[in-house]
Amino acid sequence: MAEILYTYQDQVYVNLTNKCDCNCKFCIRTHHDTVGDAQTLWHKADPTLEEVKAAIDAYDFTGRSELVYCGYGEPTCALDVLTASAKYAKETYGLKIRVNTNGLGNLYHQRDIVPELAEVADVVSISLNAPTKESYMEITRPQFENAFEGMLVFAQECGKQIPKVKMTVVDVLTPEEIEASRKLAESVGVELRVRKYV
Ligand code: SF4
Repeated sequence: MAEILYTYQDQVYVNLTNKCDCNCKFCIRTHHDTVGDAQTLWHKADPTLEEVKAAIDAYDFTGRSELVYCGYGEPTCALDVLTASAKYAKETYGLKIRVNTNGLGNLYHQRDIVPELAEVADVVSISLNAPTKESYMEITRPQFENAFEGMLVFAQECGKQIPKVKMTVVDVLTPEEIEASRKLAESVGVELRVRKYV
């Protein structure tokens, strides 16, 4: 069975689902079966809420303050398990919750999911990836034609309702693209973070 919780670079992650509504060119899933200390991050079936809670209970959180939802799939594709298990982790272990997302949750669920996320998330990190619709669609290959626009609306709503929200790009972009990404993120009220390419 795949790991539900795993550790990578001193952070504890929840690998909630293998579903994803993108097919990013750079996705680590196409190169490796695992990350960090996990044996595999491919589930035979996505874990149930009870299984996620049991994995949280079995983990020793001594010295840790944050739980990050980010695995081999898009966490908001398993929204109910995400919000319920995050609430459990907060209430039982006092953990802060970070969700790393592609920002397409509203399109995937065909409704505004941000209020539900805002009930449990302290930090949301949204993959911007590219500063124009054309390059975004080429890199992330999402299921939705209006993914770029939908992701920006999602980011804007998160910025209004969640304490800390960032959009991210990777430092393989040109300085001009990074600057354009920064302006775009700021135009929806969110800060940009430039991540190192691993
Ligand atoms: S959104 Fe994340 S999990 Fe989905 S294809 Fe892109 S990098 Fe992979």
